Amino acid sequence: MIVTTKELFAHAYGKYAIGAYNINNLEQTMGLFQGNVDSKAPFIVQLSRGARAYTHKRMLEAMMQTANEIFPEAVFAIHLDHGDEATCMDCINSGYSSVMIDHSHAPFEENVEVTKRVVDAAHAKGVVVEAELGQLKGIEEDIVAAEHVYTKPEEAETFVKATGCDSLAAAIGTSHGAFKFKGDQKLRFDILEEIQKRMPGFPLVMHGSSSVPQDEVARINAAGGNIQGASGVDASQFLGAAKLGVTKINIDTDGRLVWCRVHREFFRDHPEEFDLRGPGKVFMPEYAKFIAAKNVLLGSAGQVDDARAFIEANKK
Ligand SMILES: [Zn+2]
Repeated sequence: MIVTTKELFAHAYGKYAIGAYNINNLEQTMGLFQGNVDSKAPFIVQLSRGARAYTHKRMLEAMMQTANEIFPEAVFAIHLDHGDEATCMDCINSGYSSVMIDHSHAPFEENVEVTKRVVDAAHAKGVVVEAELGQLKGIEEDIVAAEHVYTKPEEAETFVKATGCDSLAAAIGTSHGAFKFKGDQKLRFDILEEIQKRMPGFPLVMHGSSSVPQDEVARINAAGGNIQGASGVDASQFLGAAKLGVTKINIDTDGRLVWCRVHREFFRDHPEEFDLRGPGKVFMPEYAKFIAAKNVLLGSAGQVDDARAFIEANKK
């Protein structure tokens, strides 16, 4: 069942967070859906501009619709990750239930203006909108930010009122990629707390929240990889963030690490092999297992029946 992120957030708010997983290909799609069905979790499929450009955007959209047929138990949103205005407009008209407009690199007034235009177009089609205020350190698609620009709670309130966006990505110290922290991680939960005080019930989003498990990195390096100094977000923080209004937690890097580990180990252990289905058959159930375990940490595991009933009751 394809739903909007807004419907998922209404059920999750204050209790648990929903995993938003970035997808690029068929094997990830199969593993993702299987893992969420196995763990009985509602979820969000995220397609980035990079993923849409990798093969063909229409192929990804068709895979999501087909996955909905193959896995009738799944309750999920199809979400554009970090869109610009033109991409948002395309997605609003091609089967996405949710889009993110990220114009956070621009001055506040311009961010409001562009976000508002996307919100108006999206809402006219029943699509909901995530926006961003503040900037995460790291590289996201083609935008590089050298330093954190933390979200200011008073600006967040003004921004949400002015744009009518349905959720907001807040910058609280996480960053994109596999190299998130040097030394101790410091997440600014005080920012979440202050936003929740000003806008109780309004859903927040945490980007750049992969955990970058050190055993995964070690296995990759033992199989010929060379990833040094990688670190991520402590997953034991997820439920605390959920209590403060975070309803969506974005996980991309960790899934890439699973892919990398499976393929490196497979070809290390089977140097005579060249069939792509060999590692693919290992990867799909491994990815499903990874998703199911992540959902336990997010608190979304076991919620799907309740979420489906809640969403259907609210539609009546
Ligand atoms: Zn992001």
